[in-house]
Amino acid sequence: MSALELLEDLSDADAEEILAWAYRTFPRVALVASFQAEAMVLIDMACRIVPEPEVLTLDTGRLHEETHRYIEQIRSEYPIRLRILSPDAAEVEAMTGRNGNMQFRQSIALRNECCAVRKVNPLAAALRDYDAWITGLRREQTPTRAETPVVAEDPGHGNITKIVPLAAWSRSDVWDYLAGHGISHHPLYDLGYTSIGCAPCTRATSPGEDERAGRWWWEGDSEKECLLHPPIDAGGLSALRGRRVSVLTEPGRSALPTSRRQ
Ligand code: SF4
Repeated sequence: MSALELLEDLSDADAEEILAWAYRTFPRVALVASFQAEAMVLIDMACRIVPEPEVLTLDTGRLHEETHRYIEQIRSEYPIRLRILSPDAAEVEAMTGRNGNMQFRQSIALRNECCAVRKVNPLAAALRDYDAWITGLRREQTPTRAETPVVAEDPGHGNITKIVPLAAWSRSDVWDYLAGHGISHHPLYDLGYTSIGCAPCTRATSPGEDERAGRWWWEGDSEKECLLHPPIDAGGLSALRGRRVSVLTEPGRSALPTSRRQ
């Protein structure tokens, strides 16, 4: 397939087509999942495309008990190969030795350090084993995600390809997909959570609050990011291993929900 054909293909592609392209194109693909609603859309789609998609999840050591139980439930329901990534024990011990077990409440810098040790570093180490990774980000989740490309080189992870099939999806698109396919959801959604991360850093939200307002809520107007997804330059086409792929930034241009394709 020529570069132009590939570009046109992805420009009109929906989320399933983008996923199928990813699994066709790259030998080693990691679907990185926190087992929130978006991840379940991607896991469901991936299992329809390839026999046993490889799913990576981060066990930060601070997750809700409900998250562990839900992951086990999904592991029994879907034919995924699950890699549970843990932080480096020595890094955690050094960090907690300096500042204790609740340093994230002291400052954004210390919160970022905790996220780096428990999330960013383990993911970065694991992604060295892959050519591409898939994530369930959506542009409307935060202002910092508003320009998220569907496909781009990821300079933070050795320039492997980062694929964001749900970039243009709305929250209701996600929940419509789960309902339409009979997919269960993380139990904390039923307790008012609208975004689910580590237990001490996530609370339920109130009606009308931003969906990520419950993450690091004590920080007020911080960016609500843990540096897993630093902004990626989406200035044009990227050359990837002799192949060019589209870098799409306009919401609605691609990754349309399946329900909108007719
Ligand atoms: Fe640490 Fe909180 Fe980040 Fe989890 S979300 S890694 S507990 S700062």
